[in-house]
Amino acid sequence: MIIVLKKKATERQIQHIVAAVHGWKLKVNISRGTERTVIGLIGDERIIRSKPLDMFPGVESVLSVLKPYKLAAAEGHPERTRIQLPPVHRGGRPVVIGGPQVVVMAGPCAIESRALLFDLGRRVQQAGGRILRAGAFKPRTSPYSFQGLGVEGLRYLAEVRAELGLHVITEVMDTRDVELVAGVADVLQVGARNMQNFNLLKALGRLRKPVMIKRGLANTLEELLMSAEYVLSEGNHDVLLCERGIRTFEPLTRNTLDLSAVPVLQRESHLPVIVDPSHGTGHWDLVVPMARAAVAAGADGIMVEIHPHPAEALSDGSQALLPKNFVKMMQALRTVARALGRNV
Ligand code: PEP
Ligand code: MN
Repeated sequence: MIIVLKKKATERQIQHIVAAVHGWKLKVNISRGTERTVIGLIGDERIIRSKPLDMFPGVESVLSVLKPYKLAAAEGHPERTRIQLPPVHRGGRPVVIGGPQVVVMAGPCAIESRALLFDLGRRVQQAGGRILRAGAFKPRTSPYSFQGLGVEGLRYLAEVRAELGLHVITEVMDTRDVELVAGVADVLQVGARNMQNFNLLKALGRLRKPVMIKRGLANTLEELLMSAEYVLSEGNHDVLLCERGIRTFEPLTRNTLDLSAVPVLQRESHLPVIVDPSHGTGHWDLVVPMARAAVAAGADGIMVEIHPHPAEALSDGSQALLPKNFVKMMQALRTVARALGRNV
């Protein structure tokens, strides 16, 4: 932490700051320039992050040199995190996220019925998707919209998982449902609207199952990393970050998919980065080009929504890919991944 003093700061004001800093058990380094004085604080600056240093008389600005996230940071963690999902059945294949394979997660927005989930689960598997996505608890903008099948949906998800030996990811919306969802899901999803539900994040931190946190509609990447920090700081090291578009002034897409999030998050953090071009664009015809671009940008995984009859989908039909287009997307992603020395 560096404290820049005002030009007219007095010696009394400087000593007042120094005494306070010593009181917090940190050392100081005072540098008296011709224009102004700068005080450097030596020690773990996270201790004093909550102190209102800018309120001290004579202070002009306070600059932080450390990132506020410690466990999520790439610094001091040279190896990228690889998340292993053990095989569903003995002798089955594990899934590794954060390695050479770009992991595709696909499925319906919501679990609508047992039959639909089985059908889409088979299609995802046949096309080479590694994880079935499907929501049992749906965070809808309107209380009158379909809210998901809840516990019944989770039961179908457990059945498909067991029968097909396919890994599954599903959203947990409520702290009270964490154990229930963890009993079925291989990865627990935190929805964009819950990205800063800190009690939920802490509860997920106490689990020993991977958690994927979706970026909030109006959250910065630093805030996303701080949400990951909540999970990590409770001892759960398996966290995935997901870019799913943010709200901007552009109405021709549902959200603006921020693909620069991929290299930025990979520079700042060792955690795997997933891109969701379905929520990121809101329109099925934009999903494939943006999925290709996400792989080109270096994403560790892609999450897309698919539906056999998008016009009849109970949620997010306009962004759902038809299964045949999903197959085409997989082919295209293989080509892009190969060019980068990766596979799908
Ligand atoms: C979803 O994945 O179905 C979902 C609700 O996503 P988000 O939280 O990103 O809106
Ligand atoms: Mn959806």
